[in-house]
Amino acid sequence: MKTIGIIGGGQLGLMIAEQARLLGARTVCLDPAADAPAAAVCDDHIVGRFDDPAAVEELCRRSDVVTYEFENVPGDILIPLCDKYHIPQGYRPLYDSQDRLREKTNAREHGLRTPRFAAVDDEASLRAAVAQIGLPAVLKTRTLGYDGHGQAVLRTEEDLARALPLLAVPCILEEFVPFDFEASIVMVADDERIVSFPIGRNVHRDGILDLCFVPAEVDGEVLARMRRESERFMRSCGYRGILAIEYFVRGGEIYFNEMAPRPHNSGHYTIEGATTNQFRELARYLLGEPLQEPRLVAPTVMKNILGQDLEAAQRIAAACPPHVYVHLYGKSECRPKRKMGHITFVGMTAPEYEAAWASRFVK
Ligand code: AMP
Repeated sequence: MKTIGIIGGGQLGLMIAEQARLLGARTVCLDPAADAPAAAVCDDHIVGRFDDPAAVEELCRRSDVVTYEFENVPGDILIPLCDKYHIPQGYRPLYDSQDRLREKTNAREHGLRTPRFAAVDDEASLRAAVAQIGLPAVLKTRTLGYDGHGQAVLRTEEDLARALPLLAVPCILEEFVPFDFEASIVMVADDERIVSFPIGRNVHRDGILDLCFVPAEVDGEVLARMRRESERFMRSCGYRGILAIEYFVRGGEIYFNEMAPRPHNSGHYTIEGATTNQFRELARYLLGEPLQEPRLVAPTVMKNILGQDLEAAQRIAAACPPHVYVHLYGKSECRPKRKMGHITFVGMTAPEYEAAWASRFVK
């Protein structure tokens, strides 16, 4: 029986472990929190920090193959371990995605269109970037930003002054894309093939994913191009394992926003809404099993459950309506804006969700 080691013990680790178990594998996760969500499902849990070389190596020693569900594992720890242990996704996709400037430069170099961007380190370079890119624009910290943290939309001169505190760390200024909608694709690749999950339309609130509607109700040609270009990008970069890419879509144009070499929140719908799911295909890849091409079972809606919606989700779980799948991650502390779970509605379209379900959640 093989053991999969997972760096990180959050909900992504939990769902990787669930699928690994169904495939007959053991799992061990590394996470600093004694009550990390994945610890409830993994066979073993190493309580340790991601920046503790001894803890990461201990995870590798106890595993046949290692993956990550957390993006900010320091390179100086992981790179030497990649030579010693089986970490088949390697460090490269993490490295390429950890810094927004490097990430967008890499996307461009490998053929994807991005919003215009410029590096910004101080007020002078911010002003130069604004002169080049124009307003509105989005100022983001280059590293450690997630779910809309560490970013500000600049529309006016006053916004510029207000955003100066962000410049305590290196930043990037991006063209503001007045997109028609956001979309993302999740792919899993081995040496032979790439499988891609059906593309959904994503709705964010306060920078955090709120809803996914699958399939994205848009021009099939745009979706086919997004898939083609994403797969070409993944091959061109030489990435293996799992990769999610988020895009802005405007007219017929698609703009790369960001990528993540781990299962993605927008792919949670695949657990019940597709014939195979992102966690399972990642586990199959890690275990050296052939990948399976996913198909959508039916139109599906995924609603993220943040702290403020936990009680509503618990009520829905108790009522257990058919084709409605409530996932609660078992986090001990509930806070507004913290991801506590998600609900997947299989056989449901966006208008049906808006008419029958949207009002049950906090606006
Ligand atoms: P990010 O952390 O880069 O994914 O940004 C979080 C959210 O902010 C995105 O999902 C968009 O809704 C919005 N956003 C970020 N960058 C831009 C941009 N350049 N133009 C328009 N909206 C953006």
